[in-house]
Amino acid sequence: MHISKAAYLVSSPEVEKCPAPDRPEYAFIGRSNVGKSSLINMLCRNQKLAKTSGSPGKTQLINHFEITSVKQEGGRDYSNWYLVDLPGYGFAKVSQTQRRQWEKMIENYLRKRENLIMVFILIDSRHEPQRIDLDFVNQLGEWQVPFTLVFTKADKENQRTVAKNVKDFLNAMRETWQFLPAHVVSSAIKQTGRDKILGIISELNKE
Ligand code: GDP
Repeated sequence: MHISKAAYLVSSPEVEKCPAPDRPEYAFIGRSNVGKSSLINMLCRNQKLAKTSGSPGKTQLINHFEITSVKQEGGRDYSNWYLVDLPGYGFAKVSQTQRRQWEKMIENYLRKRENLIMVFILIDSRHEPQRIDLDFVNQLGEWQVPFTLVFTKADKENQRTVAKNVKDFLNAMRETWQFLPAHVVSSAIKQTGRDKILGIISELNKE
């Protein structure tokens, strides 16, 4: 998939104020500092698109980007879709009130956004399975929201550690999940995982 246009559109405080749900939408979320902005910039090949966080946890908004993609460069089979950058969870310095606001906004968005096709949940590949990520994954399961796991920053640890952390996370999921979701290992530095993520989006756009 080739991205021919990627532009910031709007930030919304709640799902009701989001742009009209007139095209497929893919959302990205994860613990703050997981590498979400870097991943979005890598996917769109635009280092300035999503801000790499100066003040994590502060921007509690639903950020829409307009994407136009073609299957191959120069091709004519355009598709238009939204990429959504959701505010991260697990930032220690937010107040309980802010955290509740975040929870409400995220729950409403994930459960009500009718054009939302897939959520990409980002997990830091350097760490063993973290309760906060497993809880979020299980919550999406309860809400029946489809998701793919993206293990980020894979260049920071050796491959064996990354593979073990991925395996341990999936094994931890087996306690509650009968079927495991798709997963991608990525690095914004090495530009890996891009084709796989865009491939998943491309396939879903066809449906
Ligand atoms: P966000 O808060 O989830 O949007 O995370 P950012 O994209 O701002 O990244 C947080 C920090 O991790 C920054 O210092 C990035 O440079 C770094 N980072 C993000 N992705 C990668 C990666 O794939 N590899 C490495 N080595 N560092 C990364």
